[in-house]
Amino acid sequence: MTQSSEILVVGGGMFGAAIAYGLVRLGHDVIMLDEGDHSLRTARANFGLVWTQAKGKGLHRYHDWSVESGVLWRDFAPQLLEDTGIDVKHRTGGGLDILIGDEQRANKQQYIDEMKAQAEAAGSSFEVKILDRREAQELLPNIRLGQEVSGASYSAHDGDCNPLRLLRAMHAGFQKRGGRYIIETKADRVSHDGRFFVTETSRGKFQSDKIVIACGHGIGALAPMVGLDAPNRPQRGQVLITERVEASLDYCVTPFRQTNEGGFQLGNSEEDVGFDDWTTLDITQRIAERAVRAFPQLAGVRLVRTWAGTRVLTPDKCAIYDESESHPGAFVATSHSGVTLAAINAHHIAKWVSNGETEPGFEQFSAKRFDVSKAS
Ligand SMILES: Cc1cc2nc3c(=O)[nH]c(=O)nc-3n(C[C@H](O)[C@H](O)[C@H](O)COP(=O)(O)OP(=O)(O)OC[C@H]3O[C@@H](n4cnc5c(N)ncnc54)[C@H](O)[C@@H]3O)c2cc1C
Repeated sequence: MTQSSEILVVGGGMFGAAIAYGLVRLGHDVIMLDEGDHSLRTARANFGLVWTQAKGKGLHRYHDWSVESGVLWRDFAPQLLEDTGIDVKHRTGGGLDILIGDEQRANKQQYIDEMKAQAEAAGSSFEVKILDRREAQELLPNIRLGQEVSGASYSAHDGDCNPLRLLRAMHAGFQKRGGRYIIETKADRVSHDGRFFVTETSRGKFQSDKIVIACGHGIGALAPMVGLDAPNRPQRGQVLITERVEASLDYCVTPFRQTNEGGFQLGNSEEDVGFDDWTTLDITQRIAERAVRAFPQLAGVRLVRTWAGTRVLTPDKCAIYDESESHPGAFVATSHSGVTLAAINAHHIAKWVSNGETEPGFEQFSAKRFDVSKAS
């Protein structure tokens, strides 16, 4: 039997769920499909940061987009709570990236200088500064910084949330407003029969007026079938979590964040190992050692879990949003930072899919930027 909807969203991860939730809030009839537990689901393996200070090198519009999402998050979290009763534990008010040693601090200063120059050229801003060791310690009075900590970079735009609650809340909000979530269903083929998009899946056919391909690592197989190109590659990130301890970090800190439940989440390797999502002892040890150099008190805290996730990275690590020229009504959306972008995906991207409304500079997110002949 063929199931029909106005809009089909392929992928129920961070991107798909945010867009689908936004679309049902706009009153659309939406089906969201997800392949299920055997696929790579980055949404369940991430660090929970709503983070802007490291975003947008090479494409300043993406930095601004991340900041705009951070602003939208202030309404998004309460809206999810109201819609679903789920508190996603959004913490705003600033974030620190801890710097160990003089070299890291010098590199970060250089990055900030380059980003400020990029911002100026784009007629925008880059509001990140270096705190020296004393200033960083003043913001974190309940934990002792290690001797090697040389400071921290700070942005008032940064924060975090509980990413598993976020995913659950977006799914719950989607379904409460009439969205149909169909699990264990892999989209294998997409075509257009002259009237509808037809998506062939492991559980039969789906027809829709529009289709949003937002299935992370699954995009490469589907997008070209409707004239879309959204290159991405895998990158492994390993994460450690400690037992729960009393609250000691007043701010969101990376790469060693204290979760709302009290555990310290330690991250976050960047490894080019294809789709291998196993953890390894050498990386786990390196992450733990670095955490203890930053916060020596962690030496006495037990690790309770490690995991690895596979990032979805576009070539410039910035978002791709495109509507197909050959198949209007087919959209693709992907990026690293699906937690950070959840608010803007649920808001601006849902509107774009709904009625074509876009923000200034939105065309810069097209994948055409990777193809010099098409971009010119
Ligand atoms: C270690 C690590 C730390 C991270 N930390 C952060 C962070 O702090 N902040 C942040 O903003 N981001 C972070 N991220 C990135 C964030 O998790 C991703 O950007 C986000 O999950 C991507 O969302 P997505 O929907 O594109 O992909 P996913 O979340 O992976 O979801 C894709 C979904 O599509 C489904 N699917 C795939 N193919 C098909 C198909 N053919 N048919 C049907 N369904 C299909 C899959 O089952 C999956 O559920 C981190 C990632 C990693 C790995």
